[in-house]
Amino acid sequence: MSQVEVAVEERQLLSRLQNFSTQIESSLDSACVKGELPFTEERREPSERYHNYASDLHHPCNRHLTYSWLNFDQRRPMSLDLLWRIKEGREVEARVKRDLGSLGFEIFKSGKSFNWPEYKIKGKIDGTLSLERIEYPVEVKSVHPNYWNTTRTVEEIKNHPRFWINKITSQLNLYLLMGGIPAGFLILATFGKRLRILSMLIDYELGEYDIQKAEIINKHVEAKTLPERISYDSTVCEMCDFNHICQPVKTTELITEVSLEDEADLIKYCDLKDGAVAEFNELQKKLLGDKKKPGIFREKDLLIGDIGVYTKRYTKNQKKCPKDCSLFTYEEIEVVSTSIERIAE
Ligand code: SF4
Repeated sequence: MSQVEVAVEERQLLSRLQNFSTQIESSLDSACVKGELPFTEERREPSERYHNYASDLHHPCNRHLTYSWLNFDQRRPMSLDLLWRIKEGREVEARVKRDLGSLGFEIFKSGKSFNWPEYKIKGKIDGTLSLERIEYPVEVKSVHPNYWNTTRTVEEIKNHPRFWINKITSQLNLYLLMGGIPAGFLILATFGKRLRILSMLIDYELGEYDIQKAEIINKHVEAKTLPERISYDSTVCEMCDFNHICQPVKTTELITEVSLEDEADLIKYCDLKDGAVAEFNELQKKLLGDKKKPGIFREKDLLIGDIGVYTKRYTKNQKKCPKDCSLFTYEEIEVVSTSIERIAE
């Protein structure tokens, strides 16, 4: 066989194999959408809401949450990637339960539901772990490897700049409040790392914040009105299933006037995130700084090439101590947090 004939045969074989791969991928996608694969059976068509769910009440946009009630039928359908992520999350949860159970740390009461009619909040726990005859709620989550180093403690998760991470603590906290249980466990899993098991005490301040959100949403739902949009935040609005009807005004600047030196620093900053601590800290000071000495990009919302600078503003209650600290009060303070990330992260 001549060299040309061999090349033609190889190309034809590759083409047949590629067609076969595409056929397998399409069958998998179709089975996932139809709920025919393990852990995909719960895929639902958008359905009417009668409750705020503990799993998403901490979402940063009350308008999004209100749309989930009033415009449920206009929710954008789940993407295939999201369906696969949900499936993988369920598989991780099942594996964690099986592994802990095999060591005698059985997770009971999977799917037990909690309900708080007063605020129309509802949710189902992943299970309970029993210690000294008390059953503590457990929430199992799989975390993207990019966020593994920023989810080491309950405090890091609570204050995480990404809402899909900080709402994890809020979800468990609502179960604790609804069940009148003082503490629970967060079990985190990620690719290629040992499990992270964090114990968490009930947080009344966080609970108060989420209850107030539920009250705001309930009022809007009753009046059939929508809360104001949040200031445009690409990490929230671009992932929002209702952005096609909300149509938020994008305020992110696509700037061109960042100097080459600053752009190089931004790239280095992203590259160094898991590396040299001293150099990273130095760059952090220069690019972000702090309240007293703001860095170049503090409080900005920008896209520079494939790097995003994101700023979030929110209020939190801070303890204010007079001389006699037992007479403390809370004052509301504004928190501004800016992060620099590669858009793909
Ligand atoms: S697009 Fe943004 S502002 Fe509009 S509902 Fe969604 S998250 Fe809220």
